Amino acid sequence: MEGELIRASGLQEALYYKDQDSAFFAGGTGIGYKDSGIHAKKLILVPDLPGIRTITQTDGMIRIGALVTFTMALDDVKVPGYLKEALRFCGSLQKRNRATIGGNIASWRSDSYLIPTLIASGALIGVTGKGGEETIEIGRYAEERERFQDALITCVLVKQGQESAGENGVRVLSKRYANTVESHAYLTIAMGREMEEYRIGLAIRNSGIFCPDIRNWDVSWKRANVTDDFSGSEEYKRYLTGVTLESMYEKLSTEGGRES
Ligand SMILES: Cc1cc2nc3c(=O)[nH]c(=O)nc-3n(C[C@H](O)[C@H](O)[C@H](O)COP(=O)(O)OP(=O)(O)OC[C@H]3O[C@@H](n4cnc5c(N)ncnc54)[C@H](O)[C@@H]3O)c2cc1C
Repeated sequence: MEGELIRASGLQEALYYKDQDSAFFAGGTGIGYKDSGIHAKKLILVPDLPGIRTITQTDGMIRIGALVTFTMALDDVKVPGYLKEALRFCGSLQKRNRATIGGNIASWRSDSYLIPTLIASGALIGVTGKGGEETIEIGRYAEERERFQDALITCVLVKQGQESAGENGVRVLSKRYANTVESHAYLTIAMGREMEEYRIGLAIRNSGIFCPDIRNWDVSWKRANVTDDFSGSEEYKRYLTGVTLESMYEKLSTEGGRES
């Protein structure tokens, strides 16, 4: 990590400095990592905006500010259990203390801890760019990510987890496949059910993040460039994805909706 560090006086100044050669500095765990692929000549500290470090509850949604760390979210009773499960995919306590929710979403890594779960839950992303502020469903954000390259993520809005059958809220199951808790995941799979709607979030290491339709997830798989590597063959990963999705569907469609 090298270059200029910029402490902007507010949001507009931070956005003014943001271009292709710069990065926002939140927890710094992604930026400081040599294999992150982030090469920035300027680092802009994420400005201390109102609500950017807090977790609040409004109208059945939980708003989590972008600078909330994994540890802060894990310690907060308002954060739903399904999201805590994904936050624990980050096994290192030191990293949890610094890594932020906004930084994780913005990094959009193919071994992402949180994104499959956020997609499966139908989360919303609060984002402000040079064109203004918007709140966008994460599936759409995935499709239009180019447009948000220099924008600042300000928050994520997540739905309440469904604690018992018939309650409002979403039920989400997530599974991370990695050789150890500290290794990079080669597959991260999440499925969510909200009323009769099912959503899937899939992160395939070195290939990307996908939001496939439950009826034909294999169409996305065919588009993904999945390769054989030390974690297994393409065929094995495809098999694992299929059986995991089947078992998640079985649980979500037959159980009464209790969050584990
Ligand atoms: C050893 C090691 C292993 C790791 N393994 C994983 C892993 O398996 N899965 C995983 O998901 N991550 C992994 N990471 C990366 C990192 O820890 C997480 O992605 C973390 O959540 C990033 O958050 P941060 O606050 O540290 O982001 P930063 O490092 O501060 O920033 C990362 C990127 O996000 C952008 N950014 C940050 N905040 C915002 C914002 N509010 N709006 C817009 N853009 C923003 C920055 O411009 C930068 O490009 C690993 C890191 C290390 C060091």
